[in-house]
Amino acid sequence: MGLKIETKNLTPALAAEIAAICPFGAIEADGAKLSINAACKNCKLCVKKSNGVITWEDEEKPAVDKSKFVGVAVFGEVRYGKLLPVTLELLGKARELADQIAHPVYAVLIGENLKGAAEDALRHGADKAYCYDHEQLKYRTVVPFTACIKDFIDTVKPSSVLFGATNFGRSLAPRVAARCGAGLTADCTMLEMKENTDLVQIRPAFGGNIMARIVSPQARPQFCTVRYKTFDALPRSEELTGEVVNVTVTDAMLQSGTEVLSVAEKPKEVDISDADVIVACGRGFQKKEDLALAQELADLIGAQVACSRPLAESGWMDAKHQIGLSGRTVKPKLIITLGISGTVQFTAGMKASDFIVAINADPDASIFEVAHVGVVGDLYEVVPKLIEKIKEGRENV
Ligand code: SF4
Repeated sequence: MGLKIETKNLTPALAAEIAAICPFGAIEADGAKLSINAACKNCKLCVKKSNGVITWEDEEKPAVDKSKFVGVAVFGEVRYGKLLPVTLELLGKARELADQIAHPVYAVLIGENLKGAAEDALRHGADKAYCYDHEQLKYRTVVPFTACIKDFIDTVKPSSVLFGATNFGRSLAPRVAARCGAGLTADCTMLEMKENTDLVQIRPAFGGNIMARIVSPQARPQFCTVRYKTFDALPRSEELTGEVVNVTVTDAMLQSGTEVLSVAEKPKEVDISDADVIVACGRGFQKKEDLALAQELADLIGAQVACSRPLAESGWMDAKHQIGLSGRTVKPKLIITLGISGTVQFTAGMKASDFIVAINADPDASIFEVAHVGVVGDLYEVVPKLIEKIKEGRENV
């Protein structure tokens, strides 16, 4: 599939004329020769305007034999010898999806000294844990990791591969998908499995106005990333079943243009994704100083303060405290939202919370659709009363 240049009747003048068509400067004329460079956006304007000199050719892709791709695989991200929580959550979801089509669940682990992490993957839903265990894979460098996963895919041929949407997962997954000539859906909020093994990858699109259901019926494997706290991990099984497969790591897999010179620990930060109780602030707050009200409530109930996107964008709160698609996904036991309307982008990042209390002056605010308890009222009146009631309740204990 791509642009094709008909060179037969080209003259230097015609070549220069056609090169001028491209608004991105992607057509280069050299005398009577034309070439397309990497700036091409495939907009096909040149196809429309070059009178047949540039044409678009669709390549016939042979239909993929889906029966040859079996299993739901999870990239097992390991840090300090342990699987990240997002991997355990993905293994839980992979188990559910795989059971619907009677496929196995695989974990792919890459690093050094992986035995403990591999057994943990088996205890959380994997049937097999494939380990690429090598001292040179101690640090997460994306090129060798890509080569290892590609090796796993070529050997095992899984139907779907799930990655955690961590910083590293977001870097790794597109590289692997590109090597396999397949697509990738980032930040899925739901996953479903069809009987024919097509993975339905669901995520908000067009500014959150629709929930897109994305399938890749012509490609295998199917790739997606999912954020931490989107799914539930299975309880850890006391019984160790399944198999650890130690794969030989070749020199070719270790090839890398990156050399790790030193590793510096980042200072530990408070992560709202791990909070059990959250007070989230939205546009209902009229000025930054008023956020002290939310902080007082949060201090009283041992909560962390978070916010919706407008507050992070206005600089009232650090972006690390932002909940939603462009922020963090949270799943606390209790979340109290104050003056938040509840756009799809926001609720996609918190609707899995155990208990949601929403306070908003607008009775039609969408946040009430996901809230377990809704209070229609001005937060400037409701929150002080709530604080007073909590204090009173404590005094009477
Ligand atoms: Fe330029 Fe569009 Fe033609 Fe690409 S397809 S060369 S971007 S005009």
